[in-house]
Amino acid sequence: MHDCIIIGAGIAGMVTARALHDAGYDIAIIDNARKGSASIIAAGLINPITGKRFEPSWRYDEFLLKAQQFYSECESRDDDQVYYRPFPMLRIFADEKEYDTFQKKYTLEYLGRYVGEQFGPEHPSIHPSIKNNYGGFRTLNAGIFEYVNFLNSMSSKFSSFMLNGFIDKGNLSRTNDVWNVTIDNQVIHSRKVIFCDGWQGSKNPWLADLGLRYDIVKGESCIIRTKLLPETDIISRGFAIIPIGNQTFRCAATFQWNELHTIPTAFGAERLHNRISSLIDCEYEVLEQSAGLRPTMFEHKPFMVEHPKYPGLLAMGGLGTKGALYAPYMAYNLLQYLSNVGEIDPEMNLLQAFHHK
Ligand SMILES: Cc1cc2nc3c(=O)[nH]c(=O)nc-3n(C[C@H](O)[C@H](O)[C@H](O)COP(=O)(O)OP(=O)(O)OC[C@H]3O[C@@H](n4cnc5c(N)ncnc54)[C@H](O)[C@@H]3O)c2cc1C
Repeated sequence: MHDCIIIGAGIAGMVTARALHDAGYDIAIIDNARKGSASIIAAGLINPITGKRFEPSWRYDEFLLKAQQFYSECESRDDDQVYYRPFPMLRIFADEKEYDTFQKKYTLEYLGRYVGEQFGPEHPSIHPSIKNNYGGFRTLNAGIFEYVNFLNSMSSKFSSFMLNGFIDKGNLSRTNDVWNVTIDNQVIHSRKVIFCDGWQGSKNPWLADLGLRYDIVKGESCIIRTKLLPETDIISRGFAIIPIGNQTFRCAATFQWNELHTIPTAFGAERLHNRISSLIDCEYEVLEQSAGLRPTMFEHKPFMVEHPKYPGLLAMGGLGTKGALYAPYMAYNLLQYLSNVGEIDPEMNLLQAFHHK
């Protein structure tokens, strides 16, 4: 009998697995070979200021503190692994309008604390391959989370607790207070089941009556190689060029609401090229292109719930564009809830259907 079965081995599932396992819980993890996982293609950017209007990322300091603590504790226990790196970031203005918007806002406390040195157009400190026609600023407290490294490391750590398969309506049943999961021609039992199934939660029959409002967004990204860009800074403007070593850069990401599949397209390639060319002026070679679906919610917030009709059945998702930032806070919160020492964060409880009854 397990304490918890976690369904989904993306960032949400693996951070939760790690938090529960380290707290002494007996866990099992089920995933369908990470088919359609957003985590395996995510760029890993953690950034305090988002969008054209320079909005602060929701509860950034609180979530970043938890993320840094969690990833550095994992790093100190897992030999020679690096999961999170603070990284310098340049935010370049697109035009005069953006420059004006920024000037009106940056003295505000919420924004100012993330703004380092400001620079003007064509400033000599900015590399000539970076298009800098309107100036910009250095963003403080940004970083890169190594998604694939973390997932691979957790997969090998938990290999003896991981099972391969897809959980549908018929694979799950409840007898008294125990959940029975049929998988790989066997039945395993647990007191709790936690769905961490990303965008596929939108089709999950067990969550269907919760009224969760998904607003899934496709994203495409690519890896480029060029000798002509410095590898010292992330270059960003709602789209980022992220140094990943050996003169290669991950460029992410597009936003497409009307294409709900994970296949990279020629249209995506064109949009990526346009976004890259708006930020840099140098030749580059595209090494690979990938696509994924972000598990975004209508409320633009992640959620955690225990099903009101099925005690012991929980779900955690809606990590949207910020899985690396949100997952550790959510996993700790869930751990406190399961250990009866805290409530689910009320701002993450997005149960529409049951709220309105
Ligand atoms: C192009 C792109 C760029 C991105 N860049 C960033 C970034 O820079 N920074 C950032 O933090 N985030 C970024 N994201 C967002 C990030 O990918 C997501 O926030 C995060 O990966 C969501 O993680 P998850 O674990 O909820 O979902 P997923 O990673 O999708 O994992 C869900 C897992 O559940 C499994 N599963 C689903 N249903 C079942 C079932 N019924 N039975 C068994 N297994 C099941 C799937 O196989 C999958 O492995 C990006 C996303 C995209 C698409």
